[in-house]
Amino acid sequence: MSDSPAIEAHLSESRLFPPSAAFAAAANCNDAGIYDRAKADPIAFWSEWASTLQWDKPWDSVLEWNPPHAKWFVGGQLNLTTNCLDRHVAAGKGDVEAIRFEGEPGDTEVITYAQLLTRVQEFAGVLRGLGVDKGDRVTIYLPMIPEAAVAMLACARIGAVHSVVFGGFSADSLKERIHDSQSKVVVTSDGGWRRGSQVALKAAVDAALEDSACAGIEAVIVLRRTGQDITMFDGRDHWWHDLAESAEPVTEAVSLDSEAPLFILYTSGSTGKPKGILHTSGGYLTQATATMKLTFDVREGDVYWCTADVGWVTGHSYVVYGPLSCGATVLMYEGAPDFPARDRFWKIIADHKVTIFYTAPTAIRAFMKWGTEHLEQHDLSSLRLLGSVGEPINPEAWMWYHEHVGHGNCPIVDTWWQTETGAHMITPLPGIVATKPGSATRPFPGIDIDVVDENGESVPNGSGGFLVIKSPWPSMLRTLWGDDDRYKNVYWSKFGDKNLYFAGDGARKDEDGYIWLLGRVDDIMLVAGHNISTMEVESALVEHPAVAESAVIGKTHDVKGQAIAAFVSVKEGVIADDALAKELKAFVGAKLGPICRPDDILFTAELPKTRSGKIMRRLLRDIAEGRALGDTSTLADQSVVSGLKSKYEANEG
Ligand code: ATP
Ligand code: MG
Repeated sequence: MSDSPAIEAHLSESRLFPPSAAFAAAANCNDAGIYDRAKADPIAFWSEWASTLQWDKPWDSVLEWNPPHAKWFVGGQLNLTTNCLDRHVAAGKGDVEAIRFEGEPGDTEVITYAQLLTRVQEFAGVLRGLGVDKGDRVTIYLPMIPEAAVAMLACARIGAVHSVVFGGFSADSLKERIHDSQSKVVVTSDGGWRRGSQVALKAAVDAALEDSACAGIEAVIVLRRTGQDITMFDGRDHWWHDLAESAEPVTEAVSLDSEAPLFILYTSGSTGKPKGILHTSGGYLTQATATMKLTFDVREGDVYWCTADVGWVTGHSYVVYGPLSCGATVLMYEGAPDFPARDRFWKIIADHKVTIFYTAPTAIRAFMKWGTEHLEQHDLSSLRLLGSVGEPINPEAWMWYHEHVGHGNCPIVDTWWQTETGAHMITPLPGIVATKPGSATRPFPGIDIDVVDENGESVPNGSGGFLVIKSPWPSMLRTLWGDDDRYKNVYWSKFGDKNLYFAGDGARKDEDGYIWLLGRVDDIMLVAGHNISTMEVESALVEHPAVAESAVIGKTHDVKGQAIAAFVSVKEGVIADDALAKELKAFVGAKLGPICRPDDILFTAELPKTRSGKIMRRLLRDIAEGRALGDTSTLADQSVVSGLKSKYEANEG
């Protein structure tokens, strides 16, 4: 192992964007000393943030670390809904808007903090009425509507553990997650809206529950959203509105241990079978709150919009818990970015005067592909901060975001984190850190991150390696649900007894110590003795004016070990022919050096992605190497891979 070559860096970037003086002056934090202070005493740093929350009982000790198991704010008691709702209402902020909702058909709803509290108290009563108690699991399978947040918070109010399953997942994936979490109740709706059609959520629940693996489900609560026809099973299924009528509201939130389980969330499955990540209460809320205030600079008067679905961790930490803990106004949108037209997001920003906008590189690349005319019709001047999450953002996409969405005057926070980390881990603080397009910059204060070699030794600036977390952090996962051995193996075994958390991602530190994410370690290519990052070759391809998006993989090669194969989707109106393929190979070779020049280029209209929008390179490797496809259950669109497989085989043949 130790003699395998280091991950190389070929991309160079010299553009630097310091925060404007005006932004820095008004920012929640503009004191660069925060980094050194947090580093000198992370325990003090995190306990200061925990102290901004409302505790029913103070903690006895901040951290108990028995590697690889951590407990934070041990002995303390709190309830997350008291923090997200009751305390704001008690402080006279009951009339502040908590959620501003826009449904895909155009229906809108404004919910104040006082109203949200009432709804959560009521739905907590509904759950209790069905026998749900502290520690019981509840699966939530809903569209992106306010009731999803209500259901999550209602669980938290009584100490039940929620497991949200993205509404786009199939009956099979739902079944697997209900079974693994051993849930007692499912909360769903008749359906939801997606590109003008009704998604059949209740029917998927019915199909999942036919399986004996889901025999533990005692009740299904159904919200009426679309009004479509569904079957209600006597004794098992109940309408949300019927139960709500007779529910006894839970006015007093249950005091919970700081380490009480809050939720299980299955990862998006880019690399294989989803893992049931377990998060607990006090530490999770502490870091969600701190990052919300410092990374997003959120404050009163902001209209904050995170486009992630509540089915992903981003929707947990940065649509529900983080923003509500800070008393912010959150915008929620149910539908697709291109419905009824490709300007939907920009129209929403203009209509609601959104000030902070947080989205994913996959969306940004789609906007680039569609062209700037869709933005130009709308006034985006309310925006003051932009964020990115989910994949490395290619420098070209970063610049486009900066120029066309931010009009050159919004800092961009590129936030690296995972379902496992619960909250931001690497991100610029927008009032302090000068950003570079494509770099997530530096660890959040109080977070101990490094890039190391095969032996777990820190690499010098200018080199690449494995991204690791060296000390426990408050919002870290506590284990994998029901599988602590897998928890130890997946995250803590790679560097032996060094107790380093292995994130699974490759990264490099540049000359200034900035961190650049290079993609998943499993995806890194070994070409003629050189470890080459997929992200760098993809970023070079995207820099070519004809290219909208690309996915790059290493494919077995007799001589070189691996050859680089690139799947490329071009911008609208571009003709994808052999001449362009040749030009692209030369373009990458000139940009990154001949070793990075792709051997094969295959044009495709779409790339296979997970339902959260991430490129699934392992399936492209299966295609390129002529293998049967691995687990495809988390794919957004199965037809994309099958189409690509036939096309690839025809090309080879
Ligand atoms: P699975 O672990 O099941 O394969 P997943 O890793 O896609 O799924 P998530 O927890 O949603 O599930 O995603 C975290 C991963 O997303 C990170 O490990 C990293 O690879 C990628 N990622 C997230 N944000 C960024 C970012 N800002 N820059 C680079 N990569 C990012
Ligand atoms: Mg992962």
